[in-house]
Amino acid sequence: MTNNLHKVKALGLSSGGLDSILSALVLKAEDIEIEWISFETPFFSASKAEKAGATIGIPITVKNITGRYLKMLKDPRFGYGKHMNPCLDCHALMLKIAGEVMAKRGFNFIFSGEVLGQRPMSQTKPSLRCVEKAAGLVGHVLRPLSAKLLPITIPEEKGWVNREALLSFSGRSRKPQIALAEEFGITDYPAPAGGCLLTDATFSRRLRDLFAHQETYLERDFELLKMGRHFRLNATSKIIVGRTQKDNQKIKNLSHQQGDILLKVSNFPGPVVLIPQGAGRDAILKGACLCAGYSKAPKGREIIVNVIKNRDIESVTVISTPPGEFREYMI
Ligand code: SF4
Repeated sequence: MTNNLHKVKALGLSSGGLDSILSALVLKAEDIEIEWISFETPFFSASKAEKAGATIGIPITVKNITGRYLKMLKDPRFGYGKHMNPCLDCHALMLKIAGEVMAKRGFNFIFSGEVLGQRPMSQTKPSLRCVEKAAGLVGHVLRPLSAKLLPITIPEEKGWVNREALLSFSGRSRKPQIALAEEFGITDYPAPAGGCLLTDATFSRRLRDLFAHQETYLERDFELLKMGRHFRLNATSKIIVGRTQKDNQKIKNLSHQQGDILLKVSNFPGPVVLIPQGAGRDAILKGACLCAGYSKAPKGREIIVNVIKNRDIESVTVISTPPGEFREYMI
């Protein structure tokens, strides 16, 4: 207790995974009042954290941080991981925003479920320190699962948390966490997840292409990167070909911007093709060839493709081209 009247309050960054859950329960067992914060961008969601919060009764604030995140993502101070994942800057930004909420809402400190050595880049001792520093929060961040292996923090120094009640987990093994979950009677928790979409090679290529060709972005631009096949025809024209029924439906639903063009083969089953914000005649015809090429229409024959812009439909006739011929355009 800070004094007899006020309980110590801690704000946890939560992914909703087992480590987040356990770190919160360790502090709760010390009579600390816990709340979570979780973040959303087009690259990751807070749904797992929301579910975990509801299951174990921890209030959670979800913040969409897309604007600040994109600014960081275009030029991360510590660079990218294997793909477009700026893990250190990502952690630093999340900590910084949590620090702002801590100051605004009167939390005593911040905690997270990070485990020393669990991830090679972002959870080494120097990188844990580095993100704290970048967030301006050195000493304010407690990692209850590894605290005994880390330098003493302000909440421990001030006596808000008993260091003896904290743990010394390290490395990639999940056994200590599973044993602790059993002690707490926690049986329903998600399997460890990989990284976010920014760790995916295909998604990262498409995102790099988007950054290289657009100055401003709509939320749907990022949604579209998650589906279909993408082809870059020239500096201003991109074509997205639905790969599944679900893709086709989603692409249709997302094609609501001024200038968008949809292509669909007439008379044969085939994909929905989107040219976001339109294109010149040549690109439209290439798109129509691709649309026919990915449809069930016979190859090498003249096929009618409907070109739908706003509510106007025009039909063009193209030769159905084997999709392999467009490989050089694939993103
Ligand atoms: S994997 Fe994604 S969400 Fe996780 S730290 Fe890296 S960039 Fe951030």
